[in-house]
Amino acid sequence: MKRTGKLICIILAAVLCVVCACGCGMIAGEKTAAAATTITSGEDEVVPEETQAAAPEQSAAPEPAATATPEPTQQAVTEIKQLQPKSDKFMQPKSLEGIDPLNDKVIALTFDDGPNPVKTPELLDILEENDVVATFFVVGNLVEQFPDVVKRAYEDGNEIATHSYTHPEAAEWKGLSVEGQLAQYTQANDAIEAATGLRTLFDRPPGGNTPEEKAEQIGREQILWSVDPEDWKYKDADTVYEHVMNGWNGGVVQDGAVVLSHEIYQSTVDAYGRIIPELKEKGYKFVTISQMMQIAEIRGGELTYLFRSAPTAKAAAESE
Ligand SMILES: [Zn+2]
Repeated sequence: MKRTGKLICIILAAVLCVVCACGCGMIAGEKTAAAATTITSGEDEVVPEETQAAAPEQSAAPEPAATATPEPTQQAVTEIKQLQPKSDKFMQPKSLEGIDPLNDKVIALTFDDGPNPVKTPELLDILEENDVVATFFVVGNLVEQFPDVVKRAYEDGNEIATHSYTHPEAAEWKGLSVEGQLAQYTQANDAIEAATGLRTLFDRPPGGNTPEEKAEQIGREQILWSVDPEDWKYKDADTVYEHVMNGWNGGVVQDGAVVLSHEIYQSTVDAYGRIIPELKEKGYKFVTISQMMQIAEIRGGELTYLFRSAPTAKAAAESE
């Protein structure tokens, strides 16, 4: 049953996911893809029997019409494996309503290391005033301390994801086993669930440090970034502004960019008070990570974001 379900998912993915020549597909190895799938199921105690069993008819007779007439803006329910909520306890990937995935210029702002009881609400105000959304990679033990801030971020329409429970230093994080890293994510998800009622679909490792092999075993793509203004290092609003708007260390703001920042610094919040309206003026639409993943899929993996390292649905399908 479980295996059939998995196969079904995979067939669906193979039919509908015409994608990922570069970014997503390149990292996943065959063996690790299978391993990752197994671990994914085990990660959050709920084995996705229902979800998997839910779509048997469709996949038994794939509908060519569905692929022949793609309606990009209607792909609210994506086939990306990672974005399939394991149960109704999980947040849903955001729909692409209002976004033209092929023609809009899109950018995803991501903020790590919060919540902060003062600065996160200030950033949320800026996002709200500009009518845009971002993705927050939150630290579990801070979520426990400031659950209302995360609840508001989520209810405002932003996306929430995990960034470990204690935010270990790089060396400590790297030294953790797969189980140890998963435990950090699971504990963070427990805190997020307590705050919002729901668990999240993806993670960002502290410091971006997760060796590919481990990330594959974790079984969820570890969301990294394409632009790092190093706002943690340059705590000056003008510098952060310059680094985002004009590029830094090779990362530039462009269509499909995923920008990393930390709203726990006042300088960062101040910088975004200028950055957001200016990017809007330049015609950017602000999307969350789940939306960016769907857009990338629809565009055929053309985007240069760095999502690592778990297998995509396509890679998982190929490994079967
Ligand atoms: Zn961090």
